[in-house]
Amino acid sequence: MKRVLLKLSGEALAGDKKTGFDEETCVKVANQVKELVDQNIQVAIVTGGGNFWRGRTSETIDRVKADQIGMLATVMNCIYVSDIFRYVGMKTEVFTPFQCGAFTTLFSKDRALQSLEEGKVVFFAGGTGHPYFSTDTGSVLRAIEIEADAMLLAKAIDGIYDSDPKENPDAQKYEEISIEEMIDKRLMAIDLAASIMCMENKVPLLVFGLNEENSIANSITDKFTGTKVTV
Ligand code: UDP
Repeated sequence: MKRVLLKLSGEALAGDKKTGFDEETCVKVANQVKELVDQNIQVAIVTGGGNFWRGRTSETIDRVKADQIGMLATVMNCIYVSDIFRYVGMKTEVFTPFQCGAFTTLFSKDRALQSLEEGKVVFFAGGTGHPYFSTDTGSVLRAIEIEADAMLLAKAIDGIYDSDPKENPDAQKYEEISIEEMIDKRLMAIDLAASIMCMENKVPLLVFGLNEENSIANSITDKFTGTKVTV
């Protein structure tokens, strides 16, 4: 693989605290990504915003405004994680689909690819820039735009199961599953809209647990123990 997009949920950045940032967790993520970068793999990152806010958090305020707050939460997350990545020795650039003054660079495919070719880890913050989308749809969109070879999904659970292992002790984990089957069975590693975009644009997924030892670095090797979603 030459180029991958790694999606980290907002909660993954918060560690056990579930909210805000857990620096130790983020440094561990950074060190693993550095292993990929040191092998000349181009890495793009999308973070969620759930450690601060999700559009569906509020039933009181207007959904468009709530989603805007969610998108801004992902900008905070990317600025933070990008700086942790710099701390461990990588070069980074944060892109947003809307102007954030001097905080970020306005996204364009050409600029992002140029930065990747320069060896920077690029962050795609602010989702799609539109309400009623998610960071899942934003991630797939960017993965398609930058022509990523795969999307890596680092999750709280270590792969895709045929039923919820928290509720069913006999739940079976898939080593491999096609995207059609994942959609048909509604085994949602990513939301439905994002899954359909993956299917139509042939973006394979590698789903694994962020808490597993070295799971990000192992995801593109034969040590991968999560679920591969084929397209
Ligand atoms: N969001 C949005 N449009 C986008 C991406 C994100 O409106 O293109 C908002 C939406 O409100 C979402 C929030 O940003 O709930 C944070 O993202 P998400 O819930 O996907 O975070 P995660 O669950 O991955 O931490």
